[in-house]
Amino acid sequence: MSFVPPIARLIEELNRLPGVGPKTAQRLAFFLLRQPREEVYQLADAIREARDRVALCSVCCNLTDVDPCPICAAADRDRGVICVVEDPRDVAAMERTHQYRGLYHVLQGAISPLDGVGPDDLHIGELLRRLDGGVREVILATNPDVEGEATALYLVKLLKPLGVKVSRLAHGLPVGTDLEYADELTLARALEGRREV
Ligand code: ZN
Repeated sequence: MSFVPPIARLIEELNRLPGVGPKTAQRLAFFLLRQPREEVYQLADAIREARDRVALCSVCCNLTDVDPCPICAAADRDRGVICVVEDPRDVAAMERTHQYRGLYHVLQGAISPLDGVGPDDLHIGELLRRLDGGVREVILATNPDVEGEATALYLVKLLKPLGVKVSRLAHGLPVGTDLEYADELTLARALEGRREV
């Protein structure tokens, strides 16, 4: 490397971020070094604060800075319905539809044998512990791709014997798209048209 050690280290750290290759890492590093010191400190502080203050909600496993998270703690949500999603960004997408007033459960991933992710790596045990009889319906809102379908199938097998109604979002969603990228109307229709499985 032809860079002095502090710059090389910064490039190396940025290069570890998803979607950031060596070229982009270099571009970002030199951009940061040209910025006023205060602005760079603000970015560093934001990263540190988010990492320190955000943790998993002990109920739904979404990322939160208060436990339980605001959705789990809200008095006006329907506690009889749990919408299961892969990722915190999917919660945000569902909330943007303004069509859903139940609770969520965030698996923090999907079953993907190729990536070495099995059921035990997901927060499935926490979901099962929430089915205490007060829950009428579990909506499986995993992504409409191979991993999301495999995860939904696994959960159906697990949940059906427990006597809880299980439904899956309707196939209005474009196959292979992440839930978070679906527009609000499509997502709202998929929720409305969910079918029992
Ligand atoms: Zn929560």
